[in-house]
Amino acid sequence: MRIKHANELAGAAWDTYQAGRQGHSGIARRQQDRLRALVAYARAHSLHFADRYRDAPDDLSDVTQLPIVTKAELMRDFDQWVTDPCVRRAEVETFIADPTRIGRDYLGRYVVCTTSGSTGTPAIVLHDQQALTVYNMLGYVRSLPTALMSLPGIWALIRGRGRMAAVFVTDGHFLGNTMMARRLRAAPWRAGMQRLLSALSPLGELVENLNDFQPVVLGGYPSVLELLADEQLACRLHISPVLISAAGETLTATARQHITETFGCRVTNYYGSSEAIGLTFECSSQRLHANTDWYIVEPVDDHHQPVQPGQLSHDVLVTNLANRIQPIIRYPLGDRVVIGIESCSCGSPFPTIEVVGRTDDILLYRGFQGESIHILPLAIATVAEETPGVTTCQLIQRGPSNLTVRFIAASTRNKQQTWDALRTRLAAYLAEQGASGVIIENDAQPPKLHPSSGKFRQVYADCPGVNAGARHAQRARRRGRKQGLTPPVQFVGEVVLQRRYR
Ligand SMILES: [Zn+2]
Repeated sequence: MRIKHANELAGAAWDTYQAGRQGHSGIARRQQDRLRALVAYARAHSLHFADRYRDAPDDLSDVTQLPIVTKAELMRDFDQWVTDPCVRRAEVETFIADPTRIGRDYLGRYVVCTTSGSTGTPAIVLHDQQALTVYNMLGYVRSLPTALMSLPGIWALIRGRGRMAAVFVTDGHFLGNTMMARRLRAAPWRAGMQRLLSALSPLGELVENLNDFQPVVLGGYPSVLELLADEQLACRLHISPVLISAAGETLTATARQHITETFGCRVTNYYGSSEAIGLTFECSSQRLHANTDWYIVEPVDDHHQPVQPGQLSHDVLVTNLANRIQPIIRYPLGDRVVIGIESCSCGSPFPTIEVVGRTDDILLYRGFQGESIHILPLAIATVAEETPGVTTCQLIQRGPSNLTVRFIAASTRNKQQTWDALRTRLAAYLAEQGASGVIIENDAQPPKLHPSSGKFRQVYADCPGVNAGARHAQRARRRGRKQGLTPPVQFVGEVVLQRRYR
C-alpha cells in the first residue's frame, strides 16, 4: 500500500515537472485530456452534472461548450452534486459542526472545508485523496525550486528547526486550519514546529505568542502581516522569519515592500480558494502563474462572456481538473483578474494572473488608555458573517468611535433579532480587542458598492484622518529612517494557505 502511494507521488511529481518543461503544447494536452476525463466522470457519477450536461456534446473540444454552474446552484443540490452516494449534506454538516473533527477526514477519505459567506453563499467543499496528491505536488515542484535558490535561506530554516506559524481565522473547518490540523494528526511530532494562531485574538496576545514561538516561516493575511510589521518596527515584536507567505487578501506592492523591508526576508503571495487549492504559484519574478495543467481559468465579463488577456475581468470561472468527489467545472469564484499577455521574465510557460481582490481597510479605534487599536477587516467581517441569520454584511467606520453596519437577514421576520445578535457579537469582539466606546449603528440600507471606487468593499473606513491613510503616512516616515536592510533569503515551505477564507 505504502509502495503504491510512493509510486503515485513520484508519478505525480514527475508529471508536474514535465508539464512545465513541455511548454504550451504539453500544458494544453494535459488540460484537454483531464477535462474530458473529468466531464465523463461527472456525467457518470454526479446526478446534478448528468442533468446539466444533457445537451452538452459527447465529444467535448472546449470547456466553453459546458454551462456555468454557480456555488448557490451546487449547494442547493449538494447530494446530487457529489460523485460518491455515501456523502450526504446533512451528515457533512454534522461533521463540520463538531470542532473536535477538524483535521479528520470525512468518511476516512475526504478532506472537508467550509468557505465563508463573504462572497455570498457559504460552501462546503470536499477533496479526494488524488486531488490532495496533486495539490501537494504543485506546491513542491512549482514553488520549492524558486524558494530553494538561496542557501542561507535553507540554513536559516534548518537552524530555526522549520518552525512555522500561521495567523488565520482558526475556529472552524476552514481550509488552512483543516490542512494544518490534518498534518499534525498525521505527524504529531510536528506539534512543536507548527502553530496556528487566531487572527481574531487581540494583537498584544498575538505578538506575545510569536515572540515566544520564534517562527522561521510565517503565514497570514496581508493585513495581519502589515500590522505585525508595525509591531516589529515598534520593537514590541522580535522575530526573524526567513519566509513570509501572504494569502487570503490582496497583497499590494506597498504592503509587500513594507513587510519585506521590516523583516528583511522573502515575502511570497498566493491566490487560490477552498475550491481551487494550488491554483497559482509565485515565480522568481514575484508574479503569480496559474497552474493551467490542473486548472482552467476563464476571465469573463458581467455577462459571463470571455475577456481577453490583458483586460480586467468582472469574474473568473475556474475548473478544477484534479478533484473528482465534488466536480468544480466553470465555477465563478467572484474575483476580478487579469491574465498576462506577454510571457513572464522567469520563462515559465504557465500564464501569469493578477488578482484585483478585496481592498478592505484596517479600522482604527481608541483603546481604554487612549492607545490605537487596529481592527483587522477579515477578522471583524468573520465575526459579523458568522452571526446566525446574517446573509451578507458590510461594515463601515464613519468616525473615531463609529461602526456602521449594513446587513441582509436570511429572514425579514427575524431581522430585529438578528440585528440584536449581530450588534452583541460585534460589541463583544471590539471590547475583546481593547477598543473603547465604539457606537455600533445599523444602516437600514443593504450593503452597497463603494461610492468612489464603484467596487464592493466589505469593510472600509469613511472618515479621513482616522482610517488607514494615517497609518500609511506614519509607516512611510518610519521607512525613511530605516537603513541597512538585510538581503532577502528565499524559501517556500509547505504552507497551505487560504484565500480570505480560511
Ligand atoms: Zn514568472
